[in-house]
Amino acid sequence: RRPAYSPLRTPAKHCHKYRSRLMAIPRRPLGTTGLEVSVLGFGASPLGSVFQEIDEDEGVASVHEAVKLGVNFFDTSPFYGITRSEKVLGRALKDIPREKIVLSTKVGRYGQEEFDFSAEKVTASVTESLQRLNVEYIDIIQCHDIEFGDLDQVVKETLPALMKLKEKGVVRHIGITGLPLKIFKYVIDKVPAGTVDVVLSYCHYSLNDQSIADILPYLKEHNIGVINASPLSMGLLTPQGPPAWHPAPEEVQKAAREAAQLCESEGVNLAKLAIMDSMRNPEIATHLVGMCTREQVAMNVHTALQALGVETEENGAKNAEVLEKVKEILKPVKNVTWPSGKPENN
Ligand code: NAD
Repeated sequence: RRPAYSPLRTPAKHCHKYRSRLMAIPRRPLGTTGLEVSVLGFGASPLGSVFQEIDEDEGVASVHEAVKLGVNFFDTSPFYGITRSEKVLGRALKDIPREKIVLSTKVGRYGQEEFDFSAEKVTASVTESLQRLNVEYIDIIQCHDIEFGDLDQVVKETLPALMKLKEKGVVRHIGITGLPLKIFKYVIDKVPAGTVDVVLSYCHYSLNDQSIADILPYLKEHNIGVINASPLSMGLLTPQGPPAWHPAPEEVQKAAREAAQLCESEGVNLAKLAIMDSMRNPEIATHLVGMCTREQVAMNVHTALQALGVETEENGAKNAEVLEKVKEILKPVKNVTWPSGKPENN
């Protein structure tokens, strides 16, 4: 087994403008993949203008800034902006040595209601992603939002097709993603050990929902790396609030608005509190935060460094006091989620 994470293993060469006073973001082993991923990962869905229309040049610059500041994990999908996220990320990757980053993209979801988990489609999809991303291999290929598909097809057809690509070296590791937690166990229990290397769960490890904690022991027992996406609950836990399409029930949105208002009145940033709280759990390798500007990257890197004790936390006592109040506000809606995909998968 790999030794437990230690900030001392942080590679100093990844420090950039904070070099004089900071170490870079610590990395944690991702299951038994052998990959070491930065605890703050770059969620590239905003590069597809999923949350708001973005400036693509700034998006490219934000990826470069992230690498300079020690972020090495990047996650995208053909679905985000219907290939736009992969294209913008691909523009940025042209100027980054391939071995510096751990790159994840997905197969199976191609539109809001468009899914195809067939072997033929996912195999072709990987080739297309390689072209858009300007790379020769994908570190982690993930089956995207499998609760919308037939889980038995994922078991019998999609994962075996990806295993073939793994044998060829086109993809290095395989994952599954989705919202309902029970889909992970369903698939992992049915495939040979070593087929699924990682799971990406979203909106289940944040201030309002920590339900992934229930399956962490199962995932650990099966040597599966855990990627937590959306520690901001897809924008719910931000000062500006979520996009109009956010699927959370109104009671959750209302509580999040109240939490944001409280933070504003106390002079504390809700996004910062949310990111810090998630990152402090060492059982989760990495937390993907959606970003598309250099300012956001710098802010979130700074937050990660404080969360992990690499830097002294600014206003630590005040943050702790407001965090308790925020948790109280969110308590009545704790772990309240929403249906996703086929009814039988929820
Ligand atoms: P998120 O919770 O990371 O929220 C992103 C939103 O928060 C964006 O609007 C972003 O601009 C904003 N934001 C980021 N930092 C901020 C800050 N410091 N202050 C205020 N606002 C800030 O949600 P997300 O982007 O959906 O999730 C992160 C990533 O995880 C995605 O980009 C994607 O890569 C991955 N993901 C995967 C799946 C899946 O595979 N099914 C689902 C959800 C997310």
